[in-house]
Amino acid sequence: MRTRKSETELPRFGEAEALRLDAADPGHRHLFHVPPADGGRHPESAYLAGNSLGLQPRATRDELLADLDAWGRLGVEGHLEAERPWLPYHELLTAPAARLVGALPTETVVMNSLTVNLHLLMVSFYRPTGTRTRIVIEDSAFPSDSYAVRSQARFHGLDPDTTVVRLTPRPGEDTLRTEDVTAFLAAEGDTVALVMLGGVNYLTGELMDIPAITAAGRAAGAVVGWDLAHAAGNVPLSLHEWDVDFAAWCSYKYLNSGPGALGGVFVHERHHGEPDLPRFEGWWSTAAATRFEMTPVSRPPSTVEAWQISNPPIFSMGPVRTSLELFDSVGMPALRDRSLRLTGYLERLLDEVTADRPLTVITPRDPGRRGCQLSVRLGEGSARELTKRLRYEHGVIADAREPDVVRFAPVPLYSTYHDCWRVADALAATVGRAG
Ligand SMILES: *Cc1c(COP(=O)(O)O)cnc(C)c1O
Repeated sequence: MRTRKSETELPRFGEAEALRLDAADPGHRHLFHVPPADGGRHPESAYLAGNSLGLQPRATRDELLADLDAWGRLGVEGHLEAERPWLPYHELLTAPAARLVGALPTETVVMNSLTVNLHLLMVSFYRPTGTRTRIVIEDSAFPSDSYAVRSQARFHGLDPDTTVVRLTPRPGEDTLRTEDVTAFLAAEGDTVALVMLGGVNYLTGELMDIPAITAAGRAAGAVVGWDLAHAAGNVPLSLHEWDVDFAAWCSYKYLNSGPGALGGVFVHERHHGEPDLPRFEGWWSTAAATRFEMTPVSRPPSTVEAWQISNPPIFSMGPVRTSLELFDSVGMPALRDRSLRLTGYLERLLDEVTADRPLTVITPRDPGRRGCQLSVRLGEGSARELTKRLRYEHGVIADAREPDVVRFAPVPLYSTYHDCWRVADALAATVGRAG
């Protein structure tokens, strides 16, 4: 590894070009707290880790304090008398969350955290019967999803090693092909009870063809659910129109709602009000109008709210509300447009830097098959060591997935062209040329 001056490394795309692009296409960075840099010559971090934890919107603190003050002033009366009363608080999140994922408001609710929600949804939607028992995931599934489906298989008395099918890319390829997934479902779909893939893969950044795979899975008689942890707030979604059975996502990645923030759930309306569908229940599963009649038997509404169980943590809802308002005011189409420009720019820079270095971009080249994240595989050295040097020598915050992948996510709400330029400049200075 050796250090070189950036101007000689990047003859076509200099820093001035990045600054010009930022002036022309500025984004909304001013609405966020950007962490100060731990190294390098720029005061702020180039923050490319919004796919892991999104930055804090400046509006979040006041929103949280207002809810805290209501508790202080009102005690229990805040349930009805707070400016945003706590009893129906989650309803404030429903419409903006539904717009974000392309759902009806009756199909969307914000509750719990992601893996918990996946389990609650599998209670309803993973029902192995006869020879139709298998669960299909991707081999590069996030470990939590892998553990969740394996434990569901065990819960039903099945062997996780034979019940869980892990789809792998073709030899020599890094990402799945839609036609291979749909061909598998056409050939073996009669043994599949549930297809549950990531909408955008956390490791490779690949955006799956959600409508095509959903259609293929449903045509094979399986239930099709999606983990949208890396898709919500990253790519446009039309869950209702795509006929997805269920989906779940978290709000702390692209949705900037804070560490461990509440997740979101989608259940297609065709599954609402089915009395025979198993669901786990609590007092929040019963219809709001009759909740305080305290009857021994629940009367669930014919909406996704029947999947709620507990009264929600109010102080975790304010940050989600703030964030969803931001998505509403900017709009997903405008964000996606800026995302395509920003990620396309980073890709062009990475092409120059990686051309003669032991680095390979493994994210699909087709912008229609990815969100904003670009993943780079290292031919030598450790991903964690590299991200440390990027951080402490250049103020660039990226995310290492051991052993050999570094992920860069220029987030269209707050990342800049200059951030992308800093990534390329820092990589060029940190990773020595091959040979
Ligand atoms: C981030 C992420 C998770 C995290 O799960 P939590 O339950 O929120 O801790 C799970 N699955 C995927 C695909 C993720 O990207």
